Amino acid sequence: MFNMEFDAGASLKKAYKAYIKQLNKWSADGTVPKLASQDMRFALELQRRHWERLGLKVEQDIRSPKAGSHEIPSVSYSDRIFVNHIVGTNKLLSTKISDQGGVIYDRTEEVGTSVVVQQLKKDTQPPSDMPISCPHCGAPATLCAIENGCPYCGTHFEMEDLFPKVTNAFFDVHEDADGKKSKRRLLILLISGVAIMLAICPFTAGALTFVSSVMLGLIFGFGAWVLSKFFGTLAMMGKDLRGGGKVFKSLKFRNKIRALDPEFSTEHFRDRAMNLFRMMAYGEDPTRYTACYCDLPDKWDTVVDAYFQNFGIDKYRIEGNECNVDLTLYMDCLIYKNGKIRNRSRKYRMELYKRIGDPTDLGFSVKAVSCPSCAGTFDAEQVRNCPFCGHEYDLSRHDWVVKRIS
Ligand SMILES: [Zn+2]
Ligand SMILES: [Zn+2]
Repeated sequence: MFNMEFDAGASLKKAYKAYIKQLNKWSADGTVPKLASQDMRFALELQRRHWERLGLKVEQDIRSPKAGSHEIPSVSYSDRIFVNHIVGTNKLLSTKISDQGGVIYDRTEEVGTSVVVQQLKKDTQPPSDMPISCPHCGAPATLCAIENGCPYCGTHFEMEDLFPKVTNAFFDVHEDADGKKSKRRLLILLISGVAIMLAICPFTAGALTFVSSVMLGLIFGFGAWVLSKFFGTLAMMGKDLRGGGKVFKSLKFRNKIRALDPEFSTEHFRDRAMNLFRMMAYGEDPTRYTACYCDLPDKWDTVVDAYFQNFGIDKYRIEGNECNVDLTLYMDCLIYKNGKIRNRSRKYRMELYKRIGDPTDLGFSVKAVSCPSCAGTFDAEQVRNCPFCGHEYDLSRHDWVVKRIS
């Protein structure tokens, strides 16, 4: 169920603006955004520790561009319990990265910034035994327990404190938004054109005068610029279409799996895939995590930051209740190599796995799971056995796990 608004409601705008503010604060001093969902929180914490291990200082600042519209549009889609709103607008994103030697990357770009804001559906009461983490101390608990005061820190929460949550954020870089790069290229091509013609001029036995050489140089330079613009547009169109060819496969997969799991949503699956990617890319030793059923490949990029562009299903296999999905994530990445930061478009292939049994547990978080054997609530992020009864907890029964990444 999709719904589009040209201007998001006041509460959504507030959540969006607050999250951007919290992201800036996170970048400045490491305070994890309060609005971030458990999975997002986890990814942000991993990413920050990852930067520290690399010895990099990453400063990011998101602010509003001076000109441009201030409307904040939103698109919404809902499942049984939640309404998810994609709220976004154009922002200026400054990224400054330094190592011990000084600044190695400094760039300000106009980006389309969108966040996914998750709200409880009106008149929906989520199950009171829904596992949820305490927003104050992070302890695993159930919704019912949290409403009666967190069993660990005692903080009392109302439903309004637990929602909305931000479950994902996207940054879409508009290449050369202000045309600066293009203007610079024009200047370079004009100068080179003139320089080449002036160099040829003395050898033309007077057929070309100084003035006509300059004129011809300018014409050639301009022609080269028009051509470069044309090819640049083609390259950009290709980039925007990345993964587009997989739309039908992805739709087919969705229909197939919906037959087994009526709660399946492509958006939730995408968010999960991205968060698993973040876990693999930023985790110190990803194999420690319960959601990791594989090793990292030998050749693996050192990703400093990754902006999601698109994703597509390559193939899938459903046998009985076991589901394997091969997918490609298309990302614009900042990659750290030989002391330099490079901006690269990357494709990452992942195989995700899940046992489709009960319908997707909406609001599931690995940080607060419920033991199927003794019903105890615990944090299964790095623990494979229930701390209360020792029962082995199989995360793939409840959420997607990574079987392969390359
Ligand atoms: Zn607490
Ligand atoms: Zn147990």
